Amino acid sequence: MIHLPTRPLLFVVSAPSGAGKTTLCERLLAEFDNLVYSVSCTTRAPREGEEDGVNYHFLTRDAFEKKITAGDFLEHAIVHGNLYGTLRSEITDAFARGKNVLMDIDVQGAKQIRNFLAATRDDDPLRCGFVDIFIVPPSLEVLQKRLVARAKDSEAVIARRVEHAANELKHWQDYRFVIVNDRLDASYDALRSIYIAEQHANFAVTASRK
Ligand code: 5GP
Repeated sequence: MIHLPTRPLLFVVSAPSGAGKTTLCERLLAEFDNLVYSVSCTTRAPREGEEDGVNYHFLTRDAFEKKITAGDFLEHAIVHGNLYGTLRSEITDAFARGKNVLMDIDVQGAKQIRNFLAATRDDDPLRCGFVDIFIVPPSLEVLQKRLVARAKDSEAVIARRVEHAANELKHWQDYRFVIVNDRLDASYDALRSIYIAEQHANFAVTASRK
């Protein structure tokens, strides 16, 4: 039997809200039980149906800032006026259990992680297992229609989200993979194919080729 080196995957998915990221990520998590979701911290209020510890760790600003000071976050950013951050422990705990990690974070957070990884060694496990994917809507018009149809946000919030999306879309070049979410099934096929392929990456060569 040949024993090849394996690395846990840090599967980072970013998208403007309304691009279909949540649906795609939920499908991936439902299909693969070796993948776990990194539950972020946020200072925003829970939406209807959201559970503390499941969708997010909902924190007061004060509690969030204490965690920043303590160095608990791998990355954190202000998105739509609220603080969001990934606890280092979400990643290390999952890796310790032999799981791959799915992170749903914005473009600023993904950039912070890239910068952090750039300063690590070529063979650092986190660096080897880092996979970033950007999901884009077919157009801003489609995005706006989706946000209106899901009826979660007010008109003013939707307008802000579309404007924010236009800025976020400028970052598509930073990501190794880009999926234009026109048809959900086709996009899901693309996402799961990337996930499956990356589990077969030969880390002996990828570190030097990246
Ligand atoms: P929402 O409030 O709609 O759940 O999320 C708003 C945005 O915050 C999304 O783009 C989502 O990817 C991003 N986000 C969620 N968690 C984190 C996090 O831990 N860090 C960063 N940087 N962004 C996050």
